[in-house]
Amino acid sequence: MVRFTVLASGSRGNCTVLSGGRTRILVDAGLSCRELFRRMKLAGEEPTTLNAIVITHEHQDHVNGLAVTARKLGIPVYFTEATHRAWMRWLSPRRQMTYAQWIEMIRKQAAERQAEPEAEVGEIDSPDYPGETVVENSVPFTVPAASDPAADPSCDQPPSLKDDPTWLPAIEYFKPGEPFSIGDICLNPFTIPHDAADPVGFVFSSEGVRLGFATDLGYIPPNVREQLRDLDLLLLESNHDLEMLRDGPYPWSVKQRVLSRVGHLSNDAASEFLADDYDGQAAYVILGHLSENNNLPELARVAAERALLGRASLLANRLLLAAQHEPLSTISF
Ligand SMILES: [Zn+2]
Ligand SMILES: [Zn+2]
Repeated sequence: MVRFTVLASGSRGNCTVLSGGRTRILVDAGLSCRELFRRMKLAGEEPTTLNAIVITHEHQDHVNGLAVTARKLGIPVYFTEATHRAWMRWLSPRRQMTYAQWIEMIRKQAAERQAEPEAEVGEIDSPDYPGETVVENSVPFTVPAASDPAADPSCDQPPSLKDDPTWLPAIEYFKPGEPFSIGDICLNPFTIPHDAADPVGFVFSSEGVRLGFATDLGYIPPNVREQLRDLDLLLLESNHDLEMLRDGPYPWSVKQRVLSRVGHLSNDAASEFLADDYDGQAAYVILGHLSENNNLPELARVAAERALLGRASLLANRLLLAAQHEPLSTISF
């Protein structure tokens, strides 16, 4: 049996559980581990049976609980390499210091090395200095935090979250356009236009059931239209109502970002796809990543219903809305 449960969808956290055959994966980990487990149990899913976590992109609402969840369950995380790197940059501890403080730190480290009689004689390494050559005395800049000298690299114990927040039990890379499998689930990742390092949508297939997954995209380019065909279930972003966004509380720069070609899909854009390009084959159409500030579920629903007019039935195109605060009922095939 194939089961699909959206645990949360929206800019405060995204997370979906997908089961096929004997395999169970989590798509994005945007909730805290505790909340994620709570919602899985609410939905009748057992967290310890998860086999892997798959990440669409590194935005916080998709990775918030990633490190803790992966560590707790001891399961691999699947990323594109660029997304993994961007996630590590986001998490790497950095500390602010002035140029004067940095010079002082170098001086102290050199003095410490000289004080060690058995230290090898050689050039004194300076820590990576990421700033430009000319730095004002008072201008703060960041340097990577020094690694903890107490950490023993030969020890098998995973480092603590504090020592290395980017440590994961196992990392697997995939590439957009190259299908791969995790156990009984086949994943076909495709590039989506969004302001992240290497964002992807997916078509998942298992037991002959095909599920399309596309949220966080500024528009629907031909490659995405091409992928979202012959599906049994489609999860599509319907992020904002254009008028609500235009008149809403966001600063102009954020409005521009959301509206841009690498932002989020509006109700109108989602409906346009459903009316003009979608093949009408899916049993379920789920609208997701609805904005809490710039959308209303009813606006998203009405726009999609209008687009699907005449195509919705008990067997096809049942329209559902994924929510931010509670799991959507599990869909089984
Ligand atoms: Zn998002
Ligand atoms: Zn995003």
